[in-house]
Amino acid sequence: MNNKYLLYLVAAVLIACQPQQKEENKTISVAERIKNEKVAGDVIEGKIDELLSQMTIEEKIGQMMQLNNSEYAQAESRTAYYGAPPDVQVSVDTAKLANFLDKYHIGSFLNGIAVPAETWYNYSKILQETNMRHSRLKIPLIYGIDHMHGANYLEDATIFPHSINIGATFNTEFSRQEAKTVAMETAALGHHWVFCPVVDLGKNPLWPRFYETYGEDPYLSARMGEAYVTALQNAPETAPFKQAATAKHFIGYSDPKNGWDRTPAEISDQTLREFFLPPFQALVSAGIKSFMINGGEVNGIPVHASKELLTDLLRDEMGFNGVIVTDWEDVIRLHSRHKVAKDMEEATLIAINAGIDISMTPYETGFFDALKSLVDQGKVTEERLNLSVARVLRLKMELGLFENPYPSDQHYDRIRTEENVASALNAAQESIVVVKNESLLPLSANTKIVVAGLNANSKRGLAGGWTLRWIPGEEGIFPEYMPTFYEAMRSTYGEGNVSLANGGDIRQKARQADAIILAVGEMPYAETPGNINSLALEEDQMALINTAISTGKPVLVVMIAGRPRTITPVINEIEGFIWAGLPGFEGAQALSDIISGKVNPSGKMPFTYPAQPNHWYPYNHKNMEQFFDHEEIVNTIANFGHGLSYTSYEYKDLSLSNNEIIGEGEITASVTVSNTGDMDGKESVLWFIRDEVGRITRPVKALKHFEKKLIDAGESTTFSFTFNAKKDLAYPDKHGNEQLEEGDFTLLVGSLSAPFTYKSGANAQ
Ligand code: BGC
Repeated sequence: MNNKYLLYLVAAVLIACQPQQKEENKTISVAERIKNEKVAGDVIEGKIDELLSQMTIEEKIGQMMQLNNSEYAQAESRTAYYGAPPDVQVSVDTAKLANFLDKYHIGSFLNGIAVPAETWYNYSKILQETNMRHSRLKIPLIYGIDHMHGANYLEDATIFPHSINIGATFNTEFSRQEAKTVAMETAALGHHWVFCPVVDLGKNPLWPRFYETYGEDPYLSARMGEAYVTALQNAPETAPFKQAATAKHFIGYSDPKNGWDRTPAEISDQTLREFFLPPFQALVSAGIKSFMINGGEVNGIPVHASKELLTDLLRDEMGFNGVIVTDWEDVIRLHSRHKVAKDMEEATLIAINAGIDISMTPYETGFFDALKSLVDQGKVTEERLNLSVARVLRLKMELGLFENPYPSDQHYDRIRTEENVASALNAAQESIVVVKNESLLPLSANTKIVVAGLNANSKRGLAGGWTLRWIPGEEGIFPEYMPTFYEAMRSTYGEGNVSLANGGDIRQKARQADAIILAVGEMPYAETPGNINSLALEEDQMALINTAISTGKPVLVVMIAGRPRTITPVINEIEGFIWAGLPGFEGAQALSDIISGKVNPSGKMPFTYPAQPNHWYPYNHKNMEQFFDHEEIVNTIANFGHGLSYTSYEYKDLSLSNNEIIGEGEITASVTVSNTGDMDGKESVLWFIRDEVGRITRPVKALKHFEKKLIDAGESTTFSFTFNAKKDLAYPDKHGNEQLEEGDFTLLVGSLSAPFTYKSGANAQ
C-alpha cells in the first residue's frame, strides 16, 4: 500500500466517523425573512402588507417601542409616580399620552401594580381609546404586564405559588391552571401580553431570580413552561380576548459567575445548547408568541448585542418567528453599562442588527431618535423596520386587537373564583417539600405549638417579590383574607393551642408547648435588590433556631424563601425541615394542611438544596465532580427529587419491553409503585437516563420523564415511560450537531435501575 493510498484511507475513515455536520448557516436576506415569516394563506398577511405600505418611518419606529406606564400617569414626576397610590400609578394623563402617540407613535406600553379590576378596565379603555383617536392608521396598542404567579398585578386576584414551587409539584396541571387563571382573570382587562414564563434554569441559587424558575432541570422546566404557554395562549373561555406569553429571558441569564442579577455568565456553547436551550426550544414548539432577552452578557457578549444568539440561534436554528422584546432599558445599557457601544445610536444599531423587534425603552424616547437617524443615514433600511413591524402587527392581529381593541367590564366574576383559589391551594399543597421528618410530622390535633421566626406572622414572606408590587414592602397592602402562617395554624389547631413567640419569649412559651415551629427565610425581593453573597441564613435567624433547640422541645424549621438558604449547622439537631419556597396567598393554609396531616405531602425538590452557602452540586453534575469523594464534606441538604410523604412507597418490577434500542426503535419501561403505608398519597415518579460513555462528558443522570398519580393506601399503580434514541439519548455538541452514540445506558427510577443499549440501525445485527 503506498503512502498516498494510506492517506486517502485514513481521510475516508475520519470523514465517515464524523457526526453528521449541520448545514452551514447561509445568510438569509431581510426580504427573504419577511417572505418566510408570512403565515401562508392567512388574510392577516395582506393587511400587514397594506399597513406597511401606508406607514411612515416614524410610525414604524413607534411600533418598535414599549414605554413604561409611569410616563403618562397622572403624577407630577416619575419620582412622584413611584410614591403615589396604586390608582395614580395605573392612571392616564391623556395629554401626556397624546404626546407619545403623536410624536413617537408608540405601539406598546407596560407595567402595573395591583389595582381593582374596575381600575384596570377604565385605564385600559382610556389608553386604547386615546390611542385609536391618535393613531392615523388605527393600529391598536398592545399592553405588557408581569403576571408572574397568577395575576399578581390585579387586586383580589388568585395568587399562585411562584414557579419554583410549581416545579416542586412535578405536576404540569398546576402550570396549566395558573396560566388559565391568569387568562380568565385578566384577558378582558386589557392585559394582552403576559411576561411569563421564566424558563431560565435555576442553576445558581444565589441568583435573586431563582424563585422565578421551575428549578435546575431543563426537562422539568420545558414541560412546565410549555404547559403554561399552551394554556395561556389557547384559553377559549376568554374569547374574544386573547393573551400572548413571553419566554424569559433568552438565554444564559441564570448562571452568572458571581450569582448576582444581570452580571456576566460564562457558559460553554455545548453547555448552553444541552442544558439552557431545551426549555426555550419547547416554548417555540408550543407556539409562544414572544421572547424577552437576557439583560446580561454571555461569554463576553451582551445578549442584546448577539446576532449569533438572537438571529442565528433563536430564529434560524430554533425557528422562532414571533416578536423579540428587549428587557428593561437594555438597548440603552449596551452603551451605558456594558459599554459595547459608544453612544445610544451605536447601541441601537447593534441591537437592531442582533435582531430585536421592540425596545423596552422604557422611560425615554432616545431609541426613536437613534433609530430614525440610523434610517436617515442608510445604516438601517426601511425593509429591516418592516421585518420587525410585520412581526408586531402580526402579533396584534393574532390577538384580535384590530377587531377587539377595548377591554370589557363584563367578566369581573371570573376573578378569584372558588375554582381558581382551589387550584392555587392545591398547587401550594403539592409544592411543599418535607425534607426531614424524624417521627415529628404530622402533628396531631391537640398539639400545643409555639410558632416563631421572620415569616411566622408575615404575608409578604409567603408571597415573595412580584406580588401586588414589584417588591411588596408593606404588610398592609395584603388582603385580610390571606392568613399568615401563625393565623392558619391557629385556625387549624385552635387558638388556645398555638402561640406566637419571638427571640425574647420563646423559651418561656416553649415550656407549655409540645413542639416549636420556626418559619424562617427571606422577605420579598426581586432582581438586583435581591443580590446576596452567601446562602447562609442570617445570624439572627440561626440564633433563634439555636434557642429553640436549646429548649429541648422538638423543632420543625419551615423555610419560606425564594432560594435555598442554608441551615446546615443545625440540620442534625432539628426534628423536622420543610422547604416551602414561596407558596403564595394560599401558602399558609397549605402549610398547616401538611403539618396537620390533612394533606399528605407530595412535593419533591426541583433543585438540589445545597448544604454549603458557597458550593452547589446539581443532580446532573458530571462524573468528575463526584470522583474524588471527600466523605467529610456534606454537599446537599436535599437531593433533586427528594421529598418525604406520610405514607411509604415501594417501587418494584421495573421491566423494559426490550433491552436494546435499534435505530429509530423505542423501549417502553414500566414500574409498579405500591403505597405500602396507611395514607392515600400522590407520588411523582421521576425517570432518569444515564449515558454510561459519551465523547462529551455526560451528566451522571438526566431527567427524561415524570408523572404524578394518586395511589390509595394499600394499592399499587403502574407507571410507564416510552423512550427512543433521538428524543432521549441524543445530545448536542457545541455547534448543535446531534450526538447519538451507540453503547450502554441505564434507566433509573426510584432506587431501581435497568441497563439497555443503543445501536444505530447500521450496526444492528
Ligand atoms: C425584568 C423582566 C420584566 C421587565 C418588565 C425587567 O426588569 O427583568 O423580567 O418582564 O422588567 O417589568
